[in-house]
Amino acid sequence: MKKILLGLSVLGSAACYTVLPTILTRTFSKRIVKSTAQKGLLLTFDDGPNPQYTPQLLDLLKKYKVSAVFFVVAKKALQYPEIIKRMQTEGHVIGIHHYTHQSSFVMTPAILKRQLLKSKQILESITNEPVTLYRPPWGHFNAATLKIANNFQIMMWTSIFGDWKVQTCKSSLLQQLHQARCDGAIYVLHDCGQTFGADHDAPVHMLQTLHHFLEQVTHDGQVFTNPHDWTKQYVHS
Ligand SMILES: [Zn+2]
Repeated sequence: MKKILLGLSVLGSAACYTVLPTILTRTFSKRIVKSTAQKGLLLTFDDGPNPQYTPQLLDLLKKYKVSAVFFVVAKKALQYPEIIKRMQTEGHVIGIHHYTHQSSFVMTPAILKRQLLKSKQILESITNEPVTLYRPPWGHFNAATLKIANNFQIMMWTSIFGDWKVQTCKSSLLQQLHQARCDGAIYVLHDCGQTFGADHDAPVHMLQTLHHFLEQVTHDGQVFTNPHDWTKQYVHS
């Protein structure tokens, strides 16, 4: 009986540090944005930079004159600073997706703080610009996230599509991208397939589908939100 009570107490404490703050923050917190409240769509890409797929994605965005937000893993940014510089030169906004792609569920407050500070230093040393946006991997918060990330604007999404799986890209991604179109929408896609749970070559199929989508919606006159205009309000001193 004692073991059961102890087990329940440990589980309860873990939930209070992980799942509960995630649900409460994502449901009620005014500190996070889930929509731009502006005309048009905002495209965001997580988990890069990837030396194979990110340059192809940048070519595609350039072709259709769309600016996006890239939530990058800072350790990879350190490996491929030229890709980060290219993002910046081509008008995209860069945000933090931790130093390594780890969930905040398994980080102590001190480790989370180090991840954010290190990422900020790395990205700012490459771009020479302040980094103000943060998206935690898997959208996971812990009980300390809001306090530690106080100087960042946390951006979630209106629509996430499962594009880290090849099968989803092939079967329903294009349809999902169309169905989610509305003003203020924030889309999340992924330009790297090396994350836990992802298919390595999923970005090949995401890129093909995104190409079709951009081709179709530009004919319809779809407006894309310029992330620079939108993030101006979130620059912290
Ligand atoms: Zn991620």
